[in-house]
Amino acid sequence: MAISECPACTYHIALPPGLKEGEAMVCPDCGARIKLAKIYPPVFELVEEVE
Ligand SMILES: [Zn+2]
Repeated sequence: MAISECPACTYHIALPPGLKEGEAMVCPDCGARIKLAKIYPPVFELVEEVE
């Protein structure tokens, strides 16, 4: 299983099966909104909150 770090807290997140490049999820540790910027190697980036 692929693992990548949360850009906000460096928690090691196991990629949910089926998560595609560009899809967003929430860090299970710090709750930051992140998206999968690249799938190989897996890199998460923070999602800018637009208000
Ligand atoms: Zn986090």
